[in-house]
Formats: sequence, C-alpha cells, structure tokens
Amino acid sequence: MRQFSERRVLVTGGAGFLGSHLCERLLRDGCDVLCVDNFFSGTKENILHLMDNHHFELMRHDVTFPLFVEVDEIYNLACPASPIHYQFDPVQTTKTSVHGAINMLGLAKRVKAKIFQASTSEVYGDPVVHPQQEGYWGNVNPIGPRSCYDEGKRCAETLFFDYRRQHNLRIKVARIFNTYGPNMHPNDGRVVSNFIVQALRNEPITVYGSGAQTRSFCYVDDLIEGFIRLMDSPDTFTGPVNLGNTGEYPVLFLAEKIVELTGSKSPIVLKPLPTDDPKQRQPDISLARSELGWEPQVVLEEGLQKTIRYFERTLER
Ligand code: NAD
Ligand code: UDP
Repeated sequence: MRQFSERRVLVTGGAGFLGSHLCERLLRDGCDVLCVDNFFSGTKENILHLMDNHHFELMRHDVTFPLFVEVDEIYNLACPASPIHYQFDPVQTTKTSVHGAINMLGLAKRVKAKIFQASTSEVYGDPVVHPQQEGYWGNVNPIGPRSCYDEGKRCAETLFFDYRRQHNLRIKVARIFNTYGPNMHPNDGRVVSNFIVQALRNEPITVYGSGAQTRSFCYVDDLIEGFIRLMDSPDTFTGPVNLGNTGEYPVLFLAEKIVELTGSKSPIVLKPLPTDDPKQRQPDISLARSELGWEPQVVLEEGLQKTIRYFERTLER
C-alpha cells in the first residue's frame, strides 16, 4: 500500500543548482516533492538520481504560465541566477520573476500553501551600506544590464508582501548571497564554477576588473539548512532575511586560492569589469542568527575542496 507523506512540496527551478539540493533534502525529510522546471539553466542530470524515488515527481513547466497543483508548501526558486544566463533573454528574466511570482502566489492563495521566495542580495545593488542589513533599501540601477534580474526580484518581493497584506498569505522571503557547490553547471558563468573549471583545465583564470571587488561565499549545504529553518519558522516571521556566509573575500584572492587548492598551472588574467558589477557584498546575518538560530558551518577552503572534487568527477565524464 502506498504511504502518503506528511507534506506535499512544490520546488520551482528544482532542476537547477540550489533546487536540486533542496529537492534532495526535502525527500530526506520525508516530503512528497514536485519539481517544476523549464530546463533553461538547470539540467535533468542534477535530479536524475531522484527519479526512482516514488516521492519525487518532475514536471516540465514554465512558471510564467499558471500552474494548478495541490501542494502544502511552495519554494519558488525558478529564475536563472548567473549574469550570463539572466542577461541572455532579459525580458524573459523579468517575466520569470514577476509573472512567475504572480502565478505561484496565486497558486498559494488558492490552495492555502505556505510560500518561500528565493530573493537575492542583488536587491541591494551596488551597496553603499556595508555589511548589508535587511533594513537597507539598496542602490540599484533600474535600466542597466543587471536590472532585469535585480528589479525583477525586487518586484517579486513587493508582490510577496502585498499578497501577505491583502490576502494574509503565509510568506517567507530569503535574500540569498553568493552560494556555490556541487551541481553548478560547468558553463554557468559564475565566479566559483568558472575559476574551478578553468583551473582544472589549466586554462587562464579570468578575473574581471582588478579583482578587488569582494563577495561572500556560502556553501550550498549551509544555505539549504537556512531555507528549511525559514520555511519551518513561525508564520509571524516572514523575512526578508539574509542568508549567506559572512566571510568576505576579493575575487583575486578567490582565484589565487583555487589555483593553490587545485595545484593548477593556470595563469591569472585580467578581463574588463562588467557594467554595474557590485564592488562589495557581505551579509549581516544577525536576523537569521536570532530568528532561525542559523549560521553557516562550512569554511571557504572546505567548501571549495568539495566543489573541486565534484568538478573533477564531472569533467572526467
Ligand atoms: P540555477 O540557474 O541553477 O537554477 C534556476 C532554475 O530555474 C533552473 O533549473 C532553470 O532551468 C529554472 N528556470 C528558469 N526560468 C524558469 C521558468 N520560467 N520556469 C521554470 N523554471 C525556470 O540557479 P540557482 O543558483 O540554483 O538559483 C536558484 C534561485 O536562487 C534563483 O531564483 C536565484 O535567483 C536565487 N539565488 C541564487 C543565488 C546563488 O548564489 N546561487 C544567489 C541569490 C539568489
Ligand atoms: N567574476 C570574475 N571572473 C569570472 C566570473 C565572475 O572575476 O569568470 C567576478 C564578477 O565580475 C563579480 C564576482 O566575480 O565581481 C562574482 O560574480 P558572479 O557572476 O559569480 O556573481 P554576482 O556578480 O552576481 O555576485
């Protein structure tokens, strides 16, 4: 006889980097998982190992179109996250964030589901307040090449809070800072995957600008723990809440660290800095600490080692 799980959970963008880890974690926690993805930047390989699990279901669907399913919880992750991917079709990126949020919020309202939004540190733009606290409203260019992503995510947050005020929806908004780990696509274009793949192939490491710009890098397992804690927190806690690692490093340091850890012969080369590239980024995670009892456990070197091992296996295939 079929055993029914306690919770039916929808993960949009479930075949992507973060989504695939979340699906895996939710299945481990005993949930029924419905993974929805249009495979724009995610791949079936990321979730192939889950396909035999009777509690896992995969649906090809674009969240810019309405979806009618019965679920208890929704994690809305669908949206390309890498600048090269989200700038490939910027109109579709805005649609994914805005229409996608409207469709998922409509679904949550209809089936009375709790809903989580994967927002981003990009809502702070090129921040003049450092480190960034949730109360900071940001410094975002509304008409630049990054705007489709930044403003799309900001509008999605607005929609989440309006659905809360207007329809009393149970919402959870996480502002995610740069996260890395296994299941990133080798051609994803983000800094950690780019540098590791280049290092393993002994190709030049492409540092944009002088490499003095900083980022704070969170290992994926830590982030997913934060997602679960946020979803399980009392309904009165909506966020937005920063989730990220407070360890802040210049991009050039990251390049040198990856060369050292891989034993690569790659030279480091400087390339032009993309337009509107934020100069610094570090989360203030006091709120996550106090409300969720959450803080990252994996230090940069340990996380990089795990990610390097993953790419060594992937590139061998
Ligand atoms: P990703 O590109 O690996 O995953 C996104 C997934 O969404 C992909 O599988 C893609 O195919 C899917 N998708 C895109 N458009 C879709 C659409 N219209 N309909 C259905 N599916 C669609 O990126 P990720 O790093 O896993 O990011 C997941 C979420 O977390 C995104 O919303 C992103 O903005 C957010 N986020 C990630 C980071 C990070 O560092 N990884 C930081 C901030 C925010
Ligand atoms: N970056 C780089 N070389 C690369 C890819 C990215 O120097 O091959 C830089 C990029 O300019 C930015 C930082 O690394 O300053 C993080 O880039 P990523 O695309 O990973 O994320 P985001 O800019 O959205 O934080």
